[in-house]
Amino acid sequence: MYILVSNVGSTSLKFKLFEMPQERLLCESKIERVGSDDAIYYYKNMESGLEERKNDCSIPCYSDGIRMFLSSLTEGEGAVPEEARKIEAVGFKTVLAKGFYGVHELTEQVLEAMREYLFVAPAHNAPYLEAIGQFKQVLPGAKMVGVFETAFHKTIPLERRIYSLPYEWYEKYGIMRMGYHGSSHSYIAKQVKERRIISCHLGGSCSLCAIKDGQSVDTSFGFSLQTGIPHANRAGDFDPYIIPFLKNEGLTEEEILQAVAKNGGLLGVSGVSNDLRKVQEAAENGNKRAELAIDMLAVSIIRYIGSFYAELGGLDALVFTGGIGENSNLLREKICLPLAHMGVVLDREANKMCRGHGMISATDSPVKILVVAANEEIGVARQTYDCVLGQ
Ligand code: ADP
Repeated sequence: MYILVSNVGSTSLKFKLFEMPQERLLCESKIERVGSDDAIYYYKNMESGLEERKNDCSIPCYSDGIRMFLSSLTEGEGAVPEEARKIEAVGFKTVLAKGFYGVHELTEQVLEAMREYLFVAPAHNAPYLEAIGQFKQVLPGAKMVGVFETAFHKTIPLERRIYSLPYEWYEKYGIMRMGYHGSSHSYIAKQVKERRIISCHLGGSCSLCAIKDGQSVDTSFGFSLQTGIPHANRAGDFDPYIIPFLKNEGLTEEEILQAVAKNGGLLGVSGVSNDLRKVQEAAENGNKRAELAIDMLAVSIIRYIGSFYAELGGLDALVFTGGIGENSNLLREKICLPLAHMGVVLDREANKMCRGHGMISATDSPVKILVVAANEEIGVARQTYDCVLGQ
Protein backbone atom coordinates (compact mmCIF):
# COMPACT_ATOMS: atom_id res chain seq x y z
CA MET A 1 0.00 0.00 0.00
CA TYR A 2 1.31 3.47 -0.87
CA ILE A 3 0.76 6.18 1.72
CA LEU A 4 1.58 9.83 1.35
CA VAL A 5 2.36 11.75 4.54
CA SER A 6 1.75 15.47 4.49
CA ASN A 7 3.17 17.83 7.10
CA VAL A 8 1.65 21.29 6.70
CA GLY A 9 3.32 24.28 8.34
CA SER A 10 2.07 27.85 8.44
CA THR A 11 4.26 28.61 5.40
CA SER A 12 5.62 25.21 4.45
CA LEU A 13 4.60 21.86 3.02
CA LYS A 14 6.50 18.61 3.47
CA PHE A 15 5.70 15.28 1.80
CA LYS A 16 6.97 11.73 2.13
CA LEU A 17 5.69 8.81 0.09
CA PHE A 18 5.99 5.42 1.79
CA GLU A 19 5.36 1.86 0.73
CA MET A 20 3.71 0.21 3.72
CA PRO A 21 4.04 -1.90 5.77
CA GLN A 22 7.68 -2.20 4.55
CA GLU A 23 8.20 1.46 5.56
CA ARG A 24 10.13 2.02 2.34
CA LEU A 25 10.53 5.72 1.60
CA LEU A 26 10.16 6.37 -2.14
CA CYS A 27 10.45 10.12 -2.32
CA GLU A 28 10.29 13.28 -0.26
CA SER A 29 9.63 16.93 -0.90
CA LYS A 30 9.83 20.19 0.99
CA ILE A 31 8.33 23.50 -0.07
CA GLU A 32 9.24 26.60 1.93
CA ARG A 33 7.65 30.07 1.85
CA VAL A 34 4.30 28.95 0.41
CA GLY A 35 2.29 32.08 -0.41
CA SER A 36 5.22 33.96 -1.93
CA ASP A 37 7.03 34.52 -5.23
CA ASP A 38 10.33 33.35 -3.79
CA ALA A 39 9.26 29.92 -2.59
CA ILE A 40 11.85 27.12 -2.45
CA TYR A 41 10.91 23.75 -3.94
CA TYR A 42 12.86 20.57 -3.17
CA TYR A 43 12.13 17.02 -4.32
CA LYS A 44 14.14 13.83 -4.04
CA ASN A 45 13.53 10.37 -5.45
CA MET A 46 15.19 8.11 -2.86
CA GLU A 47 15.59 5.14 -5.26
CA SER A 48 17.45 6.93 -8.04
CA GLY A 49 18.91 9.65 -5.82
CA LEU A 50 17.65 12.26 -8.30
CA GLU A 51 17.18 15.67 -6.68
CA GLU A 52 15.29 18.69 -7.95
CA ARG A 53 15.77 22.10 -6.33
CA LYS A 54 14.13 25.32 -7.49
CA ASN A 55 14.52 28.73 -5.86
CA ASP A 56 12.34 31.79 -6.39
CA CYS A 57 9.24 29.81 -7.45
CA SER A 58 5.84 31.42 -7.46
CA ILE A 59 3.69 29.23 -5.16
CA PRO A 60 0.78 31.48 -4.15
CA CYS A 61 -1.21 28.80 -2.29
CA TYR A 62 -1.11 25.24 -1.00
CA SER A 63 -2.87 23.81 -4.06
CA ASP A 64 -0.02 25.09 -6.28
CA GLY A 65 2.54 23.37 -4.02
CA ILE A 66 0.53 20.13 -3.97
CA ARG A 67 0.20 20.10 -7.76
CA MET A 68 3.92 20.81 -8.19
CA PHE A 69 4.77 17.84 -5.95
CA LEU A 70 2.29 15.55 -7.74
CA SER A 71 3.80 16.41 -11.11
CA SER A 72 7.32 15.58 -9.83
CA LEU A 73 5.84 12.30 -8.65
CA THR A 74 4.38 11.41 -12.03
CA GLU A 75 6.48 13.20 -14.67
CA GLY A 76 10.13 13.48 -15.60
CA GLU A 77 13.20 11.67 -14.31
CA GLY A 78 12.19 11.82 -10.64
CA ALA A 79 8.85 10.06 -11.22
CA VAL A 80 8.07 7.04 -9.05
CA PRO A 81 6.97 3.68 -10.57
CA GLU A 82 3.43 3.48 -11.96
CA GLU A 83 2.03 1.39 -9.07
CA ALA A 84 3.33 3.86 -6.44
CA ARG A 85 1.22 6.62 -7.96
CA LYS A 86 -1.93 4.84 -6.79
CA ILE A 87 -1.88 6.55 -3.42
CA GLU A 88 -4.36 4.78 -1.16
CA ALA A 89 -4.27 7.23 1.74
CA VAL A 90 -2.89 10.61 2.72
CA GLY A 91 -1.88 10.89 6.39
CA PHE A 92 -1.81 14.38 7.90
CA LYS A 93 0.02 15.41 11.08
CA THR A 94 -3.05 17.35 12.18
CA VAL A 95 -2.96 19.43 15.34
CA LEU A 96 -6.29 19.44 17.13
CA ALA A 97 -10.04 19.08 16.70
CA LYS A 98 -12.69 19.53 19.35
CA GLY A 99 -13.43 16.12 20.83
CA PHE A 100 -11.11 14.10 18.52
CA TYR A 101 -7.76 13.05 20.00
CA GLY A 102 -6.55 9.94 18.21
CA VAL A 103 -6.33 8.85 14.59
CA HIS A 104 -9.40 9.61 12.49
CA GLU A 105 -10.58 9.56 8.91
CA LEU A 106 -11.03 13.22 7.98
CA THR A 107 -14.78 13.18 7.47
CA GLU A 108 -16.82 16.38 7.31
CA GLN A 109 -17.59 15.92 11.04
CA VAL A 110 -13.88 15.85 11.96
CA LEU A 111 -13.13 18.81 9.69
CA GLU A 112 -15.93 20.74 11.39
CA ALA A 113 -14.36 19.90 14.78
CA MET A 114 -11.05 21.31 13.47
CA ARG A 115 -12.86 24.48 12.39
CA GLU A 116 -14.33 24.80 15.89
CA TYR A 117 -10.78 25.03 17.28
CA LEU A 118 -9.51 27.50 14.67
CA PHE A 119 -9.34 30.09 17.41
CA VAL A 120 -7.06 27.88 19.55
CA ALA A 121 -4.63 26.94 16.76
CA PRO A 122 -5.03 29.52 13.97
CA ALA A 123 -1.50 29.12 12.58
CA HIS A 124 -1.94 25.34 12.30
CA ASN A 125 -5.58 24.40 11.71
CA ALA A 126 -6.17 26.96 8.94
CA PRO A 127 -3.41 25.68 6.59
CA TYR A 128 -4.32 22.05 7.33
CA LEU A 129 -7.97 22.64 6.46
CA GLU A 130 -6.90 24.25 3.21
CA ALA A 131 -4.43 21.48 2.31
CA ILE A 132 -6.89 18.68 3.18
CA GLY A 133 -9.54 20.32 1.00
CA GLN A 134 -7.07 20.53 -1.90
CA PHE A 135 -5.99 16.90 -1.52
CA LYS A 136 -9.62 15.75 -1.53
CA GLN A 137 -9.93 17.38 -4.94
CA VAL A 138 -6.68 16.19 -6.53
CA LEU A 139 -6.77 12.64 -5.06
CA PRO A 140 -10.51 11.88 -4.80
CA GLY A 141 -9.93 8.12 -4.45
CA ALA A 142 -7.55 8.35 -1.49
CA LYS A 143 -8.60 8.08 2.16
CA MET A 144 -7.71 11.21 4.16
CA VAL A 145 -6.50 10.43 7.67
CA GLY A 146 -5.64 12.82 10.51
CA VAL A 147 -3.10 11.71 13.11
CA PHE A 148 -3.77 14.30 15.78
CA GLU A 149 -0.78 15.68 17.68
CA THR A 150 -2.72 15.42 20.94
CA ALA A 151 -3.12 11.61 20.76
CA PHE A 152 0.15 10.61 22.46
CA HIS A 153 -0.69 12.69 25.54
CA LYS A 154 -3.93 10.94 26.44
CA THR A 155 -1.96 8.92 29.03
CA ILE A 156 -1.09 12.00 31.12
CA PRO A 157 -2.91 11.64 34.47
CA LEU A 158 -5.76 14.08 35.01
CA GLU A 159 -4.13 15.82 37.98
CA ARG A 160 -1.39 16.97 35.59
CA ARG A 161 -3.72 17.83 32.71
CA ILE A 162 -6.27 19.85 34.60
CA TYR A 163 -5.73 23.56 35.27
CA SER A 164 -6.52 25.03 38.67
CA LEU A 165 -9.53 26.79 37.17
CA PRO A 166 -13.24 26.22 37.83
CA TYR A 167 -13.83 22.49 37.20
CA GLU A 168 -16.95 23.37 35.18
CA TRP A 169 -14.72 24.93 32.50
CA TYR A 170 -13.08 21.54 32.02
CA GLU A 171 -16.48 19.84 31.84
CA LYS A 172 -18.25 22.42 29.71
CA TYR A 173 -15.47 23.71 27.44
CA GLY A 174 -12.85 20.96 27.64
CA ILE A 175 -10.25 23.38 29.06
CA MET A 176 -7.17 21.31 29.99
CA ARG A 177 -3.60 20.70 28.93
CA MET A 178 -3.79 19.04 25.50
CA GLY A 179 -0.13 18.55 24.64
CA TYR A 180 1.19 18.62 21.07
CA HIS A 181 4.22 17.33 19.10
CA GLY A 182 2.75 13.87 19.71
CA SER A 183 4.25 12.36 16.53
CA SER A 184 7.72 13.56 17.45
CA HIS A 185 7.65 12.55 21.13
CA SER A 186 6.09 9.15 20.37
CA TYR A 187 8.88 8.52 17.83
CA ILE A 188 11.43 9.29 20.58
CA ALA A 189 9.56 6.97 22.97
CA LYS A 190 9.98 4.14 20.43
CA GLN A 191 13.58 4.88 19.45
CA VAL A 192 15.01 5.37 22.94
CA LYS A 193 14.89 2.29 25.11
CA GLU A 194 15.50 3.91 28.50
CA ARG A 195 12.63 3.89 31.02
CA ARG A 196 12.50 7.52 32.15
CA ILE A 197 12.99 9.99 29.33
CA ILE A 198 12.68 13.73 28.88
CA SER A 199 12.20 14.46 25.19
CA CYS A 200 13.00 18.04 24.12
CA HIS A 201 11.54 18.87 20.70
CA LEU A 202 13.09 22.24 19.87
CA GLY A 203 12.27 23.83 16.51
CA GLY A 204 9.95 26.59 15.34
CA SER A 205 7.66 25.29 18.10
CA CYS A 206 9.28 23.92 21.23
CA SER A 207 7.98 21.42 23.77
CA LEU A 208 9.21 18.99 26.39
CA CYS A 209 7.58 15.67 27.17
CA ALA A 210 8.14 13.42 30.18
CA ILE A 211 7.99 9.77 29.08
CA LYS A 212 7.79 6.77 31.38
CA ASP A 213 7.66 3.19 30.07
CA GLY A 214 6.96 4.48 26.57
CA GLN A 215 4.00 6.67 27.56
CA SER A 216 3.62 10.43 27.87
CA VAL A 217 3.18 11.40 31.52
CA ASP A 218 3.57 15.18 31.22
CA THR A 219 4.06 17.92 28.64
CA SER A 220 5.08 21.56 28.63
CA PHE A 221 2.36 22.41 26.10
CA GLY A 222 -1.03 23.49 27.43
CA PHE A 223 -4.50 24.02 26.01
CA SER A 224 -3.13 25.87 23.01
CA LEU A 225 0.26 25.87 21.27
CA GLN A 226 0.97 29.29 22.79
CA THR A 227 2.14 27.88 26.11
CA GLY A 228 5.11 26.11 27.69
CA ILE A 229 8.68 27.05 26.84
CA PRO A 230 9.26 29.99 24.46
CA HIS A 231 8.94 29.25 20.74
CA ALA A 232 10.48 30.89 17.66
CA ASN A 233 8.01 33.78 17.82
CA ARG A 234 5.34 32.66 20.28
CA ALA A 235 5.64 33.65 23.89
CA GLY A 236 5.15 30.42 25.84
CA ASP A 237 4.14 30.66 29.52
CA PHE A 238 3.44 34.12 30.92
CA ASP A 239 1.17 35.61 33.55
CA PRO A 240 -2.37 35.95 32.08
CA TYR A 241 -2.91 39.13 34.08
CA ILE A 242 -0.46 40.91 31.82
CA ILE A 243 -3.33 41.02 29.28
CA PRO A 244 -5.86 43.10 31.28
CA PHE A 245 -2.96 45.22 32.57
CA LEU A 246 -1.86 46.09 29.00
CA LYS A 247 -5.47 46.71 27.96
CA ASN A 248 -5.69 49.21 30.77
CA GLU A 249 -2.51 50.82 29.41
CA GLY A 250 -4.26 51.37 26.06
CA LEU A 251 -3.38 48.34 23.92
CA THR A 252 -6.23 46.50 22.21
CA GLU A 253 -6.81 42.82 22.86
CA GLU A 254 -6.02 42.08 19.21
CA GLU A 255 -2.69 43.91 19.42
CA ILE A 256 -1.75 41.99 22.55
CA LEU A 257 -2.72 38.56 21.18
CA GLN A 258 -0.94 39.27 17.87
CA ALA A 259 2.22 40.22 19.76
CA VAL A 260 2.02 37.12 21.97
CA ALA A 261 1.61 34.87 18.91
CA LYS A 262 3.90 36.59 16.42
CA ASN A 263 6.30 38.82 18.30
CA GLY A 264 7.21 36.85 21.38
CA GLY A 265 9.70 34.03 21.94
CA LEU A 266 13.17 34.23 20.42
CA LEU A 267 12.14 37.03 18.07
CA GLY A 268 10.42 39.11 20.72
CA VAL A 269 13.25 39.04 23.24
CA SER A 270 16.19 39.22 20.81
CA GLY A 271 14.64 41.72 18.41
CA VAL A 272 16.83 39.99 15.79
CA SER A 273 15.04 36.97 14.32
CA ASN A 274 12.88 33.95 15.05
CA ASP A 275 15.68 31.78 13.65
CA LEU A 276 18.16 30.66 16.30
CA ARG A 277 21.02 30.64 13.76
CA LYS A 278 20.66 34.40 13.27
CA VAL A 279 20.19 35.03 17.00
CA GLN A 280 23.36 33.04 17.78
CA GLU A 281 25.29 34.99 15.14
CA ALA A 282 24.12 38.30 16.62
CA ALA A 283 25.06 37.14 20.13
CA GLU A 284 28.55 36.19 18.90
CA ASN A 285 28.86 39.73 17.56
CA GLY A 286 28.09 41.18 20.97
CA ASN A 287 24.31 41.76 20.75
CA LYS A 288 23.21 41.59 24.40
CA ARG A 289 19.51 41.06 23.70
CA ALA A 290 20.33 38.15 21.42
CA GLU A 291 22.43 36.64 24.22
CA LEU A 292 19.57 37.24 26.67
CA ALA A 293 17.08 35.49 24.35
CA ILE A 294 19.28 32.37 24.14
CA ASP A 295 19.82 32.31 27.92
CA MET A 296 16.07 32.79 28.50
CA LEU A 297 15.29 29.83 26.24
CA ALA A 298 17.88 27.62 27.97
CA VAL A 299 16.62 28.54 31.45
CA SER A 300 12.97 27.92 30.51
CA ILE A 301 13.93 24.45 29.31
CA ILE A 302 15.98 23.75 32.46
CA ARG A 303 12.97 24.75 34.58
CA TYR A 304 10.77 22.13 32.89
CA ILE A 305 13.53 19.49 32.99
CA GLY A 306 13.74 20.01 36.76
CA SER A 307 10.03 19.53 37.30
CA PHE A 308 9.80 16.53 34.95
CA TYR A 309 12.84 14.98 36.68
CA ALA A 310 10.97 15.22 39.97
CA GLU A 311 7.76 13.77 38.49
CA LEU A 312 9.61 10.90 36.81
CA GLY A 313 11.45 10.10 40.05
CA GLY A 314 14.83 10.44 38.30
CA LEU A 315 16.01 10.32 34.71
CA ASP A 316 17.64 7.78 32.38
CA ALA A 317 17.82 9.73 29.11
CA LEU A 318 17.63 13.37 28.08
CA VAL A 319 16.88 13.61 24.36
CA PHE A 320 17.20 16.53 21.93
CA THR A 321 15.32 16.57 18.62
CA GLY A 322 13.88 19.09 16.10
CA GLY A 323 15.80 21.69 14.06
CA ILE A 324 17.26 23.44 17.11
CA GLY A 325 17.69 20.29 19.24
CA GLU A 326 19.58 18.53 16.46
CA ASN A 327 21.74 21.45 15.36
CA SER A 328 22.46 23.92 18.13
CA ASN A 329 25.34 22.60 20.21
CA LEU A 330 25.44 26.01 21.93
CA LEU A 331 21.92 25.65 23.32
CA ARG A 332 22.46 21.99 24.27
CA GLU A 333 25.57 23.03 26.21
CA LYS A 334 23.75 25.87 27.98
CA ILE A 335 21.03 23.42 29.02
CA CYS A 336 23.21 20.48 30.05
CA LEU A 337 26.16 22.06 31.88
CA PRO A 338 24.04 23.33 34.83
CA LEU A 339 22.42 19.87 35.15
CA ALA A 340 25.58 17.95 36.08
CA HIS A 341 24.44 17.78 39.73
CA MET A 342 21.43 15.76 38.49
CA GLY A 343 23.67 13.24 36.75
CA VAL A 344 23.39 14.85 33.31
CA VAL A 345 27.09 15.00 32.39
CA LEU A 346 27.84 16.38 28.94
CA ASP A 347 30.83 15.38 26.81
CA ARG A 348 31.54 18.87 25.48
CA GLU A 349 33.67 17.66 22.58
CA ALA A 350 31.09 15.06 21.48
CA ASN A 351 28.42 17.76 21.71
CA LYS A 352 30.42 20.13 19.49
CA MET A 353 31.06 17.41 16.91
CA CYS A 354 27.49 16.04 16.91
CA ARG A 355 25.72 16.55 13.58
CA GLY A 356 22.06 15.77 14.03
CA HIS A 357 22.34 12.34 15.66
CA GLY A 358 24.38 10.66 18.38
CA MET A 359 25.26 10.28 22.06
CA ILE A 360 26.73 13.39 23.66
CA SER A 361 26.96 12.38 27.35
CA ALA A 362 30.25 11.56 29.07
CA THR A 363 30.92 7.81 29.35
CA ASP A 364 30.40 7.93 33.15
CA SER A 365 27.25 10.09 32.97
CA PRO A 366 24.40 8.46 34.93
CA VAL A 367 21.93 10.01 32.47
CA LYS A 368 22.38 9.40 28.74
CA ILE A 369 22.18 12.55 26.62
CA LEU A 370 21.08 11.77 23.08
CA VAL A 371 20.49 13.73 19.90
CA VAL A 372 17.90 12.01 17.68
CA ALA A 373 16.91 13.24 14.23
CA ALA A 374 13.16 13.91 14.26
CA ASN A 375 11.09 11.59 12.09
CA GLU A 376 7.49 12.50 12.66
CA GLU A 377 6.37 11.21 9.27
CA ILE A 378 7.05 7.54 9.91
CA GLY A 379 4.70 7.53 12.92
CA VAL A 380 2.00 9.20 10.81
CA ALA A 381 2.53 6.61 8.03
CA ARG A 382 2.22 3.70 10.49
CA GLN A 383 -0.96 5.03 12.09
CA THR A 384 -2.51 5.92 8.73
CA TYR A 385 -1.78 2.39 7.51
CA ASP A 386 -3.50 0.92 10.61
CA CYS A 387 -6.46 3.25 10.09
CA VAL A 388 -6.88 2.14 6.46
CA LEU A 389 -6.78 -1.50 7.58
CA GLY A 390 -9.40 -0.61 10.20
CA GLN A 391 -7.20 -1.41 13.21
P1 ADP B 1 9.57 23.48 12.53
O1 ADP B 1 9.27 23.38 14.00
O2 ADP B 1 9.02 24.71 11.90
O3 ADP B 1 9.29 22.20 11.76
P2 ADP B 1 12.38 22.77 12.52
O4 ADP B 1 12.22 21.68 13.51
O5 ADP B 1 12.83 22.43 11.14
O6 ADP B 1 11.12 23.72 12.41
O7 ADP B 1 13.42 23.82 13.18
C1 ADP B 1 13.75 25.00 12.50
C2 ADP B 1 14.66 25.84 13.36
O8 ADP B 1 15.85 25.11 13.70
C3 ADP B 1 15.18 27.08 12.64
O9 ADP B 1 14.27 28.12 12.70
C4 ADP B 1 16.43 27.38 13.44
O10 ADP B 1 16.08 28.22 14.51
C5 ADP B 1 16.87 26.05 13.98
N1 ADP B 1 18.14 25.61 13.38
C6 ADP B 1 18.32 24.90 12.24
N2 ADP B 1 19.65 24.70 12.01
C7 ADP B 1 20.31 25.29 13.05
C8 ADP B 1 21.69 25.44 13.39
N3 ADP B 1 22.65 24.92 12.65
N4 ADP B 1 21.97 26.10 14.54
C9 ADP B 1 21.00 26.64 15.30
N5 ADP B 1 19.69 26.53 15.03
C10 ADP B 1 19.35 25.87 13.92
